[in-house]
Parts: sequence; structure tokens; C-alpha cells
Amino acid sequence: MNINVATCLLCGDTAELRYGEYPGYQEPATYKIYHCRHCNTAFSLPRADASSIYENIYNNADRVPGYNRYLRYARFVKKFAEPLKYLADSAEAYWGVKEALSQLVIDNKAARILEIGSGLGYFTFALVKAGYNAKGIDISETAVSQAKESFGNYYICNGIAEYATNNAELYDIVIFTEVIEHVDDPQNFLALALTLLKPGGQAIITTPNKSFFTDDITWASDLPPVHSWWFSEESVKYIAKSINADIKFVSFSKYYKKNYKVVGLKSQRDGRLPCPYFNKDGRLIARTARSKNTLKVHLQVLLSRIPFGTMFTDFFKKYLKMLFGKLRVLIEKDTIVCKDRGILLCAIIQKPPDKKGHL
Ligand SMILES: [Zn+2]
Repeated sequence: MNINVATCLLCGDTAELRYGEYPGYQEPATYKIYHCRHCNTAFSLPRADASSIYENIYNNADRVPGYNRYLRYARFVKKFAEPLKYLADSAEAYWGVKEALSQLVIDNKAARILEIGSGLGYFTFALVKAGYNAKGIDISETAVSQAKESFGNYYICNGIAEYATNNAELYDIVIFTEVIEHVDDPQNFLALALTLLKPGGQAIITTPNKSFFTDDITWASDLPPVHSWWFSEESVKYIAKSINADIKFVSFSKYYKKNYKVVGLKSQRDGRLPCPYFNKDGRLIARTARSKNTLKVHLQVLLSRIPFGTMFTDFFKKYLKMLFGKLRVLIEKDTIVCKDRGILLCAIIQKPPDKKGHL
């Protein structure tokens, strides 16, 4: 038996061991990282229960890098006159979904939309405020009761498998932002999501994009076991094909023109390893940037409320960020500029239309 290979957990072909003891989200566990050339997917082994780590993240939600922004969105989204615009300007995932919806939805009120894994509830709320007929679903009772309290009665507390069984073909669109990299069986998860759709309905999904990176990068996603997959465009195409669904990708060129983005890859190319976020006792050891980000969003709220404030922030985004971005490219070596696709992919997956219904 060759210990440097494993069966690809997605396509079943042979995957190669790319790193033997990759740091995990919490010390002292390490993981093996495998890359499959056949479906261009990276995954971690062993598979581990991440529930105690999610508990640690939840208990430090305002300070965990990468997760503290969710709390910030939940806290501030109501302060903006256009919550969806605020979220779309703040993160690629929400921009991608907003763009996909603008392409897919003709009648905002008629199209039924479900956000799967709505968490703190701010994105479903932003969709409702933008005029969409949207609801959110989450398995966490705490999350759903908090979301209802903050934003209103737009949320359902249920597991996706049970809900899909009882509500088949109820929705025109389902959305799940950064969910599939967390789940054990993404094919089964997507198939369940498609049961909720009417024939010809669409699933809009986002996930970190392996296709954006060169093959020498081992893992540029959250550390295992929080993320146990790092998918590429080929991976997502493979999943869609396996359940007989059509797929297309959202172009981010408009987003990156406005939000000039540079991704530094130097540390990953140097072979430097990331640090775990929690020590073995569950104490947060990762560095946080809470005060800077909170200050920034206070400034954004202020600017959105004064006359010409929006014009000013648009100007800042368009020109000053572009200037700073270009300066960084000149100064720093080994950087990549995002163009039509970036570090996150957004895909539209279509459930096959019911041929009988179209005759
Ligand atoms: Zn594979």
C-alpha cells in the first residue's frame, strides 16, 4: 500500500499526498492534505468532528480573524440605507450573489428565495430589504432565535435534509455562501438543495477558489477541520455534472475593477505554514484586528448618512484603492491581481427543467 496516495473523496480517482502534518485550526491536531489531479480538488484527512472548534469560534466570535466580520455585518447591516449594497461592497461572496440574482430574477416579489445556512441572519435580511422574497434556514436554534430578534420573522430552524423532504420544489432560488467546504458530502448536500428547487430553478453557491492559485499552493482555505475541502472550478463542475445539473460561473471583473484586490502568495510559496487559531485548551492564539475594522465600519456608516457620503466612498473605492493596490504590486513581489475570477468562486447551478412543463 502506497501511503503517499489516497482515494479522492470527491471523484474516487487517485489523490496525492501534498503535505503530511499540516496545522489544524486547533492545536495539537495536524492533517494530511491531498490533491486530486483528476477533479482538481484538495481535501484533508483524517475527517474530524469540528463541533468543539465551532463552539470556540462562537465563544470568541468578535475576535476570530475571518469570522469576526460576520458579527460585524450582523451588528451594522441595519444601519445602512441599502444593506445589500453594503454587504456586496464588503465581501466578494455577497457581491457575487447580488450579481447572480440581478441576472436571474425578473420579478423580485414572485421569485421565492431560500438562504441555506443563514447563520446570524444579516444576508437574508439584506435580500428582504432589497425587495426579494427571501427566507433563511439554519440548523442552529441560537442563530435562528438571534436572527429573528434582530431582523424579523424571516427564518426557519431546521436541518436541510428534513426540510427538503417536506418542502420539495417550493423555491425558485437557493443560496449558500461558503457552506459546501464545511460539509462531509457536498454531492449529497447539493442534491438536497436541488430538491427544494422547482424544475429549472437555480442554486447560487460560493466557496474559496482553488483554480485561482497555482498548483504549488497546498491549501489557501480555512484550516482543517473547519474547512475539510478546497474546491476548484473543476471540482464544482464535477459535483454539478454528477447530479445532472448545468453550471456557470459569475464573472467578478466589475467587482475587482471597483475593489482593486491583490493577493499576496509569498508566504505560501516560501513554504511557511499557517498558525493554528486555538491552543489545545480552546484559548484564541491568532492575532485579531478588531478595533481597526470596527472603526472603518463606523466611518462607512457615517459617510452613508451624510449628503455626498456615498459619492465619497465610491470615489475612495474606485480611485484610492486602485492607486494603493497598484503601489503594492510595484513594491511587493509575487503578488497576483484578481481579474474576472478571484480567491472566491460564485457558481450558478441549474436544476434540469421539467420537459413536460415546457411543452
Ligand atoms: Zn478527485
